Amino acid sequence: MGPLARDLAGCMQQGQQMITIDGTFGEGGGQVLRTALSLAALTGSPFRIEKIRGNRRNPGLRQQHLTCVHAAAAICEARVEGDETGSGELLFRPTRSPRPGAYAFDICTAGSTSLVLQTVLPVLASLDAPSTVAIRGGTHNPMAPPVPFLQTSFLPVLAGMGFHAEVILKRYGFYPKGGGQITCAIAPRSPGAPLDLAGRLPVTALRAAILLSGLPEHIAAREKQILSTEGGMREEEIDTIMLAQGQPGNAVWVTAAQGPCTAVFTGFGERGKLAEQVARDALAGAGFHLASGYAVEEHLADQLLLYLAIRADGRFAASRLNLHGRTNMEIIRRFLPVSFHQTRLEGEAVLVSCR
Ligand code: ATP
Repeated sequence: MGPLARDLAGCMQQGQQMITIDGTFGEGGGQVLRTALSLAALTGSPFRIEKIRGNRRNPGLRQQHLTCVHAAAAICEARVEGDETGSGELLFRPTRSPRPGAYAFDICTAGSTSLVLQTVLPVLASLDAPSTVAIRGGTHNPMAPPVPFLQTSFLPVLAGMGFHAEVILKRYGFYPKGGGQITCAIAPRSPGAPLDLAGRLPVTALRAAILLSGLPEHIAAREKQILSTEGGMREEEIDTIMLAQGQPGNAVWVTAAQGPCTAVFTGFGERGKLAEQVARDALAGAGFHLASGYAVEEHLADQLLLYLAIRADGRFAASRLNLHGRTNMEIIRRFLPVSFHQTRLEGEAVLVSCR
């Protein structure tokens, strides 16, 4: 037994129970770890996770996950064991309640800055004093929330629930170079109101944006062509952000405003992928979601659950609840005395509520 394990045994004797998590549970990726880190830092509950990211082809802690561990540990001065690249097991024990402050984290690779923010934001936004967080790494990563999603979709919904934060994109960072930077200013928690997005909402505005960095302009022209011919979007509804000198990077996102909620659907460019496909990926996500009429798309859904649980109230109808969402509910229940209720709606849509 290592020193921390002894410590954990000690704290269990003092009545604090250590939570054990199987990292292959449900989705079995980095989300299981990040949700546990956020809730351990917030509640002070120590946890042990085994088989970290056990359902992935490259299991264990990668640089982005390791930065999440160190970020969460910094906030609650946690004692940690197993925090090494490739590690499949981690012990995490907070030694004090989370502290607001000015934090800076560097992933040192193109790993997603928004996933590091996803780990610390629920903690810092629940405190009664402001914080700032600066994170270096990737800013528009496939399989992670890109910065426009945070700014346009996620943070405005959180603000209504009393969790206020503003993200500023300081420097773009794309795979494989990284080197991007975001900063986040987090306000003290306010009472807010329970989330109530249960009904269908009409789309009041539909727009798209093309981000092209250090790549030939014809890529943006071809993406615009698809947005217009297949997405029915007019020239004036499509913004183009051209970064002539930057490292190579490309993303297309479609935004759909529905009442107080704006959904963001992103297609990511990558080497060997046709420009047309990048635009089609963004349109496909939007098409599926908008056909349902509900306001919360699947990524927003899985990321809102933690905040519903911290407030212990709220409900939303999502066009789909993915495996990340279903996994998150179970991990949250390990730390907080809340219950989620799911009601099937038409198609894949689900009404989720939390008490
Ligand atoms: P792993 O490599 O283990 O899969 P990871 O840590 O990179 O792990 P996941 O566990 O798959 O990532 O979690 C990804 C998170 O990113 C989820 O919260 C998911 O909702 C979010 N996400 C993925 N794609 C998008 C997107 N296009 N827009 C917004 N959020 C996204």
